[in-house]
Amino acid sequence: MADEREVLVEVKNLEVTYGSGRKAYKAVKNANFTIYKGETFGLVGESGSGKTTIGRAIMRILPTSGGQVLYKGQQINGKISHALDRQVIKEMQMIFQDPQSSLNERAKVGYIVGEGLMNVRPDLSAAERDEKVRQALLDVGLPEFASRFPHEFSGGQRQRIGIARALIVEPEFIIADEPISALDMSIRAQVLNLLRHMQKERGITYLFIAHDLSVMRYISDRIAVIHKGRIVELAGAEELTAHAIHPYTRSLLSAIPMPDPRRERQKSPENRNCSGHRGEN
Ligand code: ADP
Ligand code: MG
Repeated sequence: MADEREVLVEVKNLEVTYGSGRKAYKAVKNANFTIYKGETFGLVGESGSGKTTIGRAIMRILPTSGGQVLYKGQQINGKISHALDRQVIKEMQMIFQDPQSSLNERAKVGYIVGEGLMNVRPDLSAAERDEKVRQALLDVGLPEFASRFPHEFSGGQRQRIGIARALIVEPEFIIADEPISALDMSIRAQVLNLLRHMQKERGITYLFIAHDLSVMRYISDRIAVIHKGRIVELAGAEELTAHAIHPYTRSLLSAIPMPDPRRERQKSPENRNCSGHRGEN
């Protein structure tokens, strides 16, 4: 069962705070979960619930204000050694929600896709790097596009460029932050299939972030539900969708918003101390 599997990422009592003093706002409170090697771990919650904050904290883009993030058993939040930092940069990648804003408009696609390699594989010559870029674009179904600019591409193609940029460094762990939310319905399945294909082929582990359960239940092995910065439920994808315990999970499943947040808090003891924090936006 689960405990025999190799643990890749462990999040323990994680807390992330924006701002300080009177303006301090705890966007993530006491989050705990484990991601096993090779699985797709889903993180689902409505807009503003803290999903991106968790993803960015794991990626070390955001500082943490409490708890631990462990990668292969080593703590990676806070101050870490240069060697570990290099390892994490190479092995963890992020795919962003909005393919319109996440690509540098002034750079050619080949540069965007190959940029990460300069850091991670300084041993490669320019020609070797170009070859890897060519292969990465081929892998995502965009051959021969290296010398073009992002604005020449559709949303789906731009997201493929983002995926090529992540894959080129051969990461073990990818945080996909709502990678299909901004895409047309017609191409969502293609991008999901591409991500799934890469996982099968390369054994990649995903933290897959989404705001609705409809897609998540089909692609995730396990799902954590986050509500106002707290993980309120965590279970296998099938179990969660068939036997949701937390009322917020049920509301996501039925897509009916909870009418009264105070009533909801009464139902769930773990949410009681959320009162008084800033509302969602
Ligand atoms: P999600 O990804 O689930 O939509 P986020 O993690 O982006 O949610 O945001 C969680 C909460 O943190 C929200 O209330 C949001 O307004 C707040 N937040 C996000 N980024 C910042 C920031 N840079 N400064 C202050 N508050 C922020
Ligand atoms: Mg987000």
